[in-house]
Amino acid sequence: MKKVALYILIVSFPLIANSQNNDSLKIRRIVNEILTNGTAYENLRQLCKTVGHRVSGSPAYQKAVKLTQAMMQSIKPDTVYLQPCMVPHWERGEKERGWVLTNNKRLFDLELLALGLSEGTGGRGVKAQVVEVTSFQQLHQLGPKGIKDKIVFFNFAMDPTYIRTFQAYGESGVARRNGASQAAKYGAKGVMVRSLASNVDPYPHTGAMRYSDSFPKIPAVAISTLSAERLSSELKKGKPVHAYFRTTSRNLPDVLEYNVIGEIRGSERPEEIITVGGHLDSWDVGEGAHDDGAGCMQSIEVIRSLRALGIKPKRTIRAVLFANEESGGKGADKYFDEAKAKNEKHIFAIESDAGGFTPRGISLDMTPEKEARFKRWHSLLAPYGIQDIYKGGSGADIADLKKIGAALAGFNPDSQRYFDVHHAATDVFEAVSRRELLLSAAVLAAVVWLVSEYGL
Ligand SMILES: [Zn+2]
Repeated sequence: MKKVALYILIVSFPLIANSQNNDSLKIRRIVNEILTNGTAYENLRQLCKTVGHRVSGSPAYQKAVKLTQAMMQSIKPDTVYLQPCMVPHWERGEKERGWVLTNNKRLFDLELLALGLSEGTGGRGVKAQVVEVTSFQQLHQLGPKGIKDKIVFFNFAMDPTYIRTFQAYGESGVARRNGASQAAKYGAKGVMVRSLASNVDPYPHTGAMRYSDSFPKIPAVAISTLSAERLSSELKKGKPVHAYFRTTSRNLPDVLEYNVIGEIRGSERPEEIITVGGHLDSWDVGEGAHDDGAGCMQSIEVIRSLRALGIKPKRTIRAVLFANEESGGKGADKYFDEAKAKNEKHIFAIESDAGGFTPRGISLDMTPEKEARFKRWHSLLAPYGIQDIYKGGSGADIADLKKIGAALAGFNPDSQRYFDVHHAATDVFEAVSRRELLLSAAVLAAVVWLVSEYGL
């Protein structure tokens, strides 16, 4: 009976099987494996609850390396290894304090966080009159006369009309990234930046800033969107408003850290390398759950699912957990430098660094020919939530691989809630949905498998 059934199956199969059909069945298997037996969520719980946040240079990051190395080893890829790199070490120091004053009377406290890589105020803090600006143009117009000895308040709200919230983040983020030096140019004593958050709430969101060497390195903090709204309405009354804040953050000598890499060697074209990754470091608030514990655990899941199903990819697949994305990108630099020095052939890389939310889109940074080929897979990915495949960016950790010929992609889950938690104390394990995290891992695995099977 069994033989007959098998015979019927073999004979009738070609009638229904074209290659797309075959691929969709294989992808179904991968998706089912991850949705049923996926470990990404439990792994994320471990990372968040046993290590927690893990800013570059901290002992916590070293702990995260050990933990994720063990996670990789437990799924038995062909190799697991660490890639050393030196990274910046910034420390927040004591809890920040700050408030708003009118007529020398304390009006209300500010919810604030020092910006990443910023220098502290020193023990006494900074106190000065506040000037609000909503654009750099306004700052330049005020010039030294309007800015000298003041605290500049950059009230750059995220534009709510962008549907892809990263566009608003990129646009308003200029104040966080460059505001301090722009204000220091005109003699400001410090800057306060409205948090890059889509909600009005009491949680300040930190993130990297950068000093220009041409100007004094003045202290910079992010204040919550709620604090920003209150401060702005106080200023609108037309009377002088002062603020005080105190931070003890500082920059220390570089520290040795590691990228964590797990690799399955390709069965037919092992020299062709596919990278799937996220970054292991986070800011030093919350638990770095969405940013980017999610992307790291999903990358491990890609390897785990293929192993569990006994699938032998034709090309080499690497899951890479990058060091130091948030404050320097030294892990990415190291990965690229090694790839170049060893003359590795990187055909494709995809990064998941936009939160552990439900799948929505994939952005492509590759030649038009490769783009067209990739887009033919849309119908295979659409059933799992990929609405759109479009031209766009990839990820901070993989972008350089383009220089050595890699086709790049960015994984873009739903972005509506990301900036509620991004770089804030609210980015904790509980903010991640198991279902959404695994479904996105499944899509990543499907994409990686397709490229490993067919190349690009
Ligand atoms: Zn990130």
